[in-house]
Amino acid sequence: MHHFTYKGGVLHAEDVSLAELAARVGTPFYAYAQATLSRHYRVFDDAFAGDDHLVCFAMKANSNQAVLKLLAGLGAGMDIVSGGELKRAQAAGVAGGKIVFSGVGKTEEEMRAALAHGIRCFNVESLPELRRLSQVARAMGRTAPVALRINPDVDAKTHEKIATGRKADKFGISWTRALEAYALAAGLPGIAVTGLATHIGSQITDLQPFEQAYSLMAELATRLREAGHDIRHVDLGGGLGVPYRGDTDIPPHPDDYAAMVRRLLGHLDVAYIFEPGRMIAANAGVLVGRVLYVKEAEGKTFLITDVGMNDLLRPTLYEAFHHIQPLAEPEPDAPMMSADVVGPVCETGDYIARERRLPQMKEGDLFAVMTAGAYGAVMAGTYNTRALVPEVLVNGADHAVVRRRFDEERIVGLDSLAPWQMA
Ligand SMILES: *Cc1c(COP(=O)(O)O)cnc(C)c1O
Repeated sequence: MHHFTYKGGVLHAEDVSLAELAARVGTPFYAYAQATLSRHYRVFDDAFAGDDHLVCFAMKANSNQAVLKLLAGLGAGMDIVSGGELKRAQAAGVAGGKIVFSGVGKTEEEMRAALAHGIRCFNVESLPELRRLSQVARAMGRTAPVALRINPDVDAKTHEKIATGRKADKFGISWTRALEAYALAAGLPGIAVTGLATHIGSQITDLQPFEQAYSLMAELATRLREAGHDIRHVDLGGGLGVPYRGDTDIPPHPDDYAAMVRRLLGHLDVAYIFEPGRMIAANAGVLVGRVLYVKEAEGKTFLITDVGMNDLLRPTLYEAFHHIQPLAEPEPDAPMMSADVVGPVCETGDYIARERRLPQMKEGDLFAVMTAGAYGAVMAGTYNTRALVPEVLVNGADHAVVRRRFDEERIVGLDSLAPWQMA
């Protein structure tokens, strides 16, 4: 469900014409529909109505201040993975009690900042990290609330690069060593065990891997309690997929996911924490670009566009599929073309789609790359000294630029010469 539809022959974000936005902001740019963001958050949150739960938006999916502010206003907490994300969450006014901190490489400085902000929980991913956190907390005269992130050795049946819960992945502590690890945690000063955590991967379109992992979490929670640990919450991570293709990858509905969670963990009387990212933000955003050239090559057509891999890395990084829609609504019987849709960046891997069937497009035509609201703008960079792509938030008939284009002059201005080069 999203709010990008053709109205009067032009693709709109809610009630704003994306073609008009393109004329104002210039391409490429990301546009987010506030109604979709709110709706997705509510659908997920409502699925757990009546349960003690906290939905911590995985802000690595989309960390724009305007997006965070909107979700925080609806009651969301945040799942952070760096000190930088903590700063963004703080700037958006998110209380420490609603922040969980994930990630395998937390630095002492990041631990101190999170302790000072009084976060809800550190999801600790290794024993060395646990010992370091103990030292840091003790030196500050504080106690760090901790859940150990358990790696359940489950195959999430998703893309190789976004599976996180197999034993060969770098994430979490093996479930086979969970009891030992908790025993260590319980004995360390400055550490208070409060829960248990897992996150098995992303873009998961089947309940079965969740079911496997969560059964194990339920069993572990029981055994840890028997061993005397105070397990008050279970953090079940994120990972619910979204329909990028819309036919072969229909994800489970949050209501079905919630029913499964209750069935497996309901008897424990624990608080649930969730860390959804993609399912909230992906379908709430599009990336708008323009066709620069139509290049007829040997047996192949290239649509050369102004959307580079520096603006949207997912196709290059994960072989991700994104629908592409012309902003001008095609006639039902419009002629089709088959093309590689590529960017201007000097890399063969710089493409949005390969051998894609599309309505015929020509030079100057505008198009939207759909389902780009998660892991889109956050991964954007300035490779090839290309401006950092701007972001626009739409609300009904209103819009606002919520990150302006970071232009080439400013990118160049970040560099400086060495003193010996200044004649
Ligand atoms: C990336 C990540 C998430 C969010 O995953 P989605 O698939 O976007 O829901 C949640 N938790 C952790 C620890 C993550 O690394």
